[in-house]
Amino acid sequence: MISAILLRSRSSSSSSSSSSAVITRYASTKTHDDAKEITSFYLRKDIHVPRGLTKPYSTRQENERERNGDHWDRRLVAALEQKIANPNKPGAHEIDSWKNDPLKKTIVVLGSGWGAISFIKALKGRELNEMFNVVVVSPRNYFLYTPLLPGVATGAIETRSIVESIRRPIAEKGFKFYEAQATDINAKERTVTFSNRYLTSAIATKWLPSVESKHKSQSFEMKYDYLVVAVGAIPNTFGVPGVEQFCLFFKEVSHAAMFRSQVNARFERAALPEMTEDQIKDLLRFVIIGAGPTGVELAAELYDLVYNDVAKTFPKRLLRHVSINIIDLQDRLLSTYNREIQDYATDFFNKANINCLLNTQVKEVKQCVLVVKDKNTGEEKELPFGMAVWCSGIKMNPLCENIMNTLPEDSQPNRRSLLADKALRVKGSDGSIFAIGDCVTLEPKSFPATAQVAKQEAYFLADRFNKAAQAKSVDSLADPKAEFVYTHRGSLAYIGKDAAVADIPGVTILKGILAGFFWKSFETVSQVSYGNSFKVGCDMLRTKIWGRDISRLL
Ligand SMILES: Cc1cc2nc3c(=O)[nH]c(=O)nc-3n(C[C@H](O)[C@H](O)[C@H](O)COP(=O)(O)OP(=O)(O)OC[C@H]3O[C@@H](n4cnc5c(N)ncnc54)[C@H](O)[C@@H]3O)c2cc1C
Repeated sequence: MISAILLRSRSSSSSSSSSSAVITRYASTKTHDDAKEITSFYLRKDIHVPRGLTKPYSTRQENERERNGDHWDRRLVAALEQKIANPNKPGAHEIDSWKNDPLKKTIVVLGSGWGAISFIKALKGRELNEMFNVVVVSPRNYFLYTPLLPGVATGAIETRSIVESIRRPIAEKGFKFYEAQATDINAKERTVTFSNRYLTSAIATKWLPSVESKHKSQSFEMKYDYLVVAVGAIPNTFGVPGVEQFCLFFKEVSHAAMFRSQVNARFERAALPEMTEDQIKDLLRFVIIGAGPTGVELAAELYDLVYNDVAKTFPKRLLRHVSINIIDLQDRLLSTYNREIQDYATDFFNKANINCLLNTQVKEVKQCVLVVKDKNTGEEKELPFGMAVWCSGIKMNPLCENIMNTLPEDSQPNRRSLLADKALRVKGSDGSIFAIGDCVTLEPKSFPATAQVAKQEAYFLADRFNKAAQAKSVDSLADPKAEFVYTHRGSLAYIGKDAAVADIPGVTILKGILAGFFWKSFETVSQVSYGNSFKVGCDMLRTKIWGRDISRLL
């Protein structure tokens, strides 16, 4: 029988219809000898057949075939047919190719942040791969552990310690990843358009060999059955003029690297001969706008850098001119935390000589000058700065607006983020689009834009897909009773000088050095890989013993 298969396959390499019957027979009678022969046949033709397809059926597969009919057989037939129809076209017939298996449903995941990585890690790769193609697409090919970004900005933690290649978990699960950005979504056709903006950047134009391509940015389209949107949010300037031009944002690795470099540049410049006192004062006036956890932690890390490391290595005369300021519209730091913590942190900053300009609104940013207004008195004044960092809020990723526009009218009344039901199904998408993390508001209950929420939403959604794969049916994804339940596990913030504040609901509130120890331990063990936990732990120890590296590389 095998010889007949090979003969027919050879003679009908361009005719998939005649080979189809043969392959179907092979698929249904696959024995050890058949497998060996068909593998060597393909090897002779220099066609790689993934081992999984030519291995005889395992007992588990045999059981599955008995239970679930011919799903596996259909996969095998489709794959072998493709190979016989296009034996010489590289890539096109490979299961390990950019083409998605047409016999499986396709889940496209957008993003590589907290939501996306937690979703991917929680998916049960083996079971899921039998039923779904999982494709992850993001312009960033790494995950960033944002809570330690302020530490990276001052050199307390090294950048690579909080960055994890997204390819690692994806490869482990047998999913696909493309480095590209979603630019357009057609909810009716269920397609996403992507482009790789990096390819048109100045660096890529200079350094990457040019690839013949219709579009220089290598645009491509992908069909999905389920789209998981985890694209996060972007910094919000609230329409304040001058923010984009004159402030640094603080959300990405590049921002932290710029902060580290620019702080250093200011101290080196201030140390130059013939700088006047006024010039030094202006240069070393640091302003952080936004007294939420990010702004507070950044001010705290800057304080540590200045008084632990700059103080030991730069001329002492500079120190008395340094001023660290934090501005917020609210009357306390950390306004979303417990009141006791807010008071403690505000008092701690005041004692440390970090200027808290509260009840203060930034009206405009000019070059090296902020125009601020006192909320109580209405008085406006100018505040010169050497460096200003905008840590004040987030707004919708533009892609979400695109998604809203492709959904039926009136399904998305909230124009500040995607609106989804209690099981994360985006309204108006017929259950084909899910959203997790900062880009979505759930109805009827909304949750804060934190990593903690993004992670729990991701786990909930992954569990639903795992269950669908287990049941070999997608019906459960549409279950109207499914509901995401959020459990708040607490809030932590570093406030400088090895101290922190921690609100652990139902347990206690911690403040000071003990909380600082808890914060360090928690951030070390919470990394997404053991490797990164090790690196973060070593960084913290290194900083404690030898201090921060204050050389400027950029
Ligand atoms: C400095 C800092 C400190 C923080 N500290 C804490 C903390 O201590 N605790 C806490 O709970 N939260 C913290 N947060 C908030 C937390 O980081 C966010 O809530 C969390 O990142 C949201 O996860 P996400 O997956 O929705 O978005 P993100 O993590 O922002 O990920 C978005 C992903 O989408 C990708 N993307 C963007 N546009 C597209 C597109 N068009 N197509 C495809 N992909 C796209 C991005 O490249 C990115 O990979 C902090 C945030 C910052 C900035």
